[in-house]
Amino acid sequence: MDFPILDTNVYNHRLVYLDNAATTQKPRQVIDALTGYYLTLNSNIHRGAHYLAAQATERYEEVRTKVQRFVNARSSKEIVFTRGTTESINLVASSFGRAFLGPGDEVIVSGMEHHSNIVPWQLACELAGARLRVIPFSDEGVLDMEAYGSLFSPHTRMVACAHVSNTLGTVNPVREIVAIAHDHNVPVLIDGAQAVAHMPVDVQQLGCDFYCFSGHKMYAPMGVGVMYGREELLSQLPPYQGGGEMIKDVTFERTTYNELPFRFEAGTPSVGDVLGLGAAIDFMLAQGIENIGRHEDELLRYATERLLSIPGLRIFGTAPHKAGVVSFLLGEAHPYDVGTLLDKLGIAVRTGHHCTQPIMDRYGIPGTVRASFACYTTREDVDALVAALVRIAPMLM
Ligand code: PMP
Repeated sequence: MDFPILDTNVYNHRLVYLDNAATTQKPRQVIDALTGYYLTLNSNIHRGAHYLAAQATERYEEVRTKVQRFVNARSSKEIVFTRGTTESINLVASSFGRAFLGPGDEVIVSGMEHHSNIVPWQLACELAGARLRVIPFSDEGVLDMEAYGSLFSPHTRMVACAHVSNTLGTVNPVREIVAIAHDHNVPVLIDGAQAVAHMPVDVQQLGCDFYCFSGHKMYAPMGVGVMYGREELLSQLPPYQGGGEMIKDVTFERTTYNELPFRFEAGTPSVGDVLGLGAAIDFMLAQGIENIGRHEDELLRYATERLLSIPGLRIFGTAPHKAGVVSFLLGEAHPYDVGTLLDKLGIAVRTGHHCTQPIMDRYGIPGTVRASFACYTTREDVDALVAALVRIAPMLM
């Protein structure tokens, strides 16, 4: 494993990078794929008649097939490249909203969603005169499935839920969530931003209708993400953005649209980043996604035990099924103060509401300190975090 940035020194300390839920670092293969594209292939895709355009197009489309296999979609037509999870969800909420949401309709989201899986639905609901219904969760950070079942009504049009909570680490029972929604003939969008780098994802097995994720949280460059949409439903959605490549024919009277998936890829995509995503998938498959998950699970258990040994430290999110995320508070210390002092010791964590303000409201806290793991995180990194917390605690408590 070669992650050049991990050799960085921060204020004369070895960098301990524990902000992987925000973005992972990139292995050399991914950086090489990105620079290799600009050094040898750079060209706009799909439209060019020349050698470079043909090569770049072929490589871009190869990654689409790679992503299809990665999430086990039935067809590569179901894989749409976007800028990231946020754009993927906005695409679905906007298009689905225009086609299927009307006055009095309801969209169910969970109480632990990232703002990216709340606000796009609010926007769509506002336009349609529809409203959000919210699945509550327990103090441990487990969704209340009974309450979920009781939220359905004849007006429910969509369920949108995170696979893994970026703040609590909870792995939600996605198959069950989908099965219950499908019993009511309601489609489901899963926000997989925090899942794809940590566990194998099979969209057919999950049964979901949409599955959205970001490249940059799975060792790929920023600027690329994926929206998987089940073909039967995706083919019924109107275009999201208009522009080049998404059309079949344009006249001033009328435009007809391209077939899937191109109908949803208006304008020049971030080709180099897509190739980087392909390299990131190769990297993860070579490591073995189950192995990555096992390694992070072990670290999670180790970190949880060690952190709880610090007097006054409270962990938020203690679900039995969690991914490698630990949110905590140190006594009454403000999370920003904790984060700032940790930074001075070379330890990179995230502080604040993590774009999940409703979770903070649920617990009545301003934010948390969040440590999150990746395949390159080590026990030494966790030890460094714990030692630093022990060192700074007397200054803050
Ligand atoms: N959903 C979840 C669960 C996330 O963790 C994030 C990123 N923090 C997003 C959505 C948004 O992802 P992006 O910023 O890459 O669009």
